[in-house]
Amino acid sequence: MLRQRNHKHYTRHKEAARALVHARLTHYNTHYQLPLKKVFIKNTKSRWGSCSSRGNLNFSYKLLFLPPAVADYVIVHELCHLVEFNHGHAFWARVAEACPNYKELRQSLRTIERASFARKSVFGMVGFGTVLK
Ligand SMILES: [Zn+2]
Repeated sequence: MLRQRNHKHYTRHKEAARALVHARLTHYNTHYQLPLKKVFIKNTKSRWGSCSSRGNLNFSYKLLFLPPAVADYVIVHELCHLVEFNHGHAFWARVAEACPNYKELRQSLRTIERASFARKSVFGMVGFGTVLK
């Protein structure tokens, strides 16, 4: 029952999420100029975004419900993984080019995760600290 409701929510919002992600990726990639491959919008349980070894980007449709600056941070984070595969200094320097306040945004994301987990809200994210790969 809960799963079905969740699936309907995903079906209803995924195209809007796709439009948002594409628009923001295009916006930030005018700066980064990285080779974009496929972008998937998924109903992920525990990740806001991820970058595959083939260079495909995956995002949770729930980005649509984050504050815009926080969603942008997730998008920039994954975009930067196209060239920096770990979370080393070079990676964060890249992220900071577009999101100079990324530390603050990352903290906001953690706060949202914790609150939504407690309320079992739409985000329904589990596994704090591992949700952004
Ligand atoms: Zn990452």
